[in-house]
Amino acid sequence: MYLYNIHTHKAGPEEIGGYKVQYILNTSPRDYKEEILASDNIRFSCGVHPWDADNAGDQLARLDEIVGQKQVFAIGETGLDKLKGPDMNVQEQVFRQQIELAISVNKPLIIHCVKAWDLLMALYKEYKSAIPWIIHGYRGNTEQTKQLVRFGFKFSVGEFFNGEAIRYIPLDSLFCETDMSEISICKVYEDISSILGLSFNQFVEIVADNFSIISK
Ligand SMILES: [Zn+2]
Repeated sequence: MYLYNIHTHKAGPEEIGGYKVQYILNTSPRDYKEEILASDNIRFSCGVHPWDADNAGDQLARLDEIVGQKQVFAIGETGLDKLKGPDMNVQEQVFRQQIELAISVNKPLIIHCVKAWDLLMALYKEYKSAIPWIIHGYRGNTEQTKQLVRFGFKFSVGEFFNGEAIRYIPLDSLFCETDMSEISICKVYEDISSILGLSFNQFVEIVADNFSIISK
């Protein structure tokens, strides 16, 4: 059985506590090298971060070239950030191009969203796509969670989260990550399973099922 770390900036050990670990290692089109042949337990999310959305033409062109490769598991992280990065119009255009690209290759989106929830929901509604939109580093409150759940978003939760709110995330829409943290993915699974009143193993199986559905 595997533990899945759906968003990290650094791949760790192949095995933790008797479980194998599958990493989705985040990179940018600029840093992605064709020669990277991921081992079985490492695949990539590749995308233009909203902070880097200015003059992203070359990066988007590069992303277009590599997006079909098997080791590119998802497009991201991409999204919207009202507190940092270029003008929202610029961020939105770059995000839209990546949404359209993800839809065209039928791969998940890994989303970074800060204080731009209304626009994110509007875009979700507009594109009506079947691909998973996974909000990474999710720590929203209960009200926001209920709203996003109604739309059909998926959620990746890491070291910090709102323990009350995550109970409102359907179990089939939940993933785990470490992002920039030094914490072990095992600890994230432990924390979330205990909040949800599940055994560690039950939760491992749930996330494994969720992963297999989005990686078809
Ligand atoms: Zn990240």
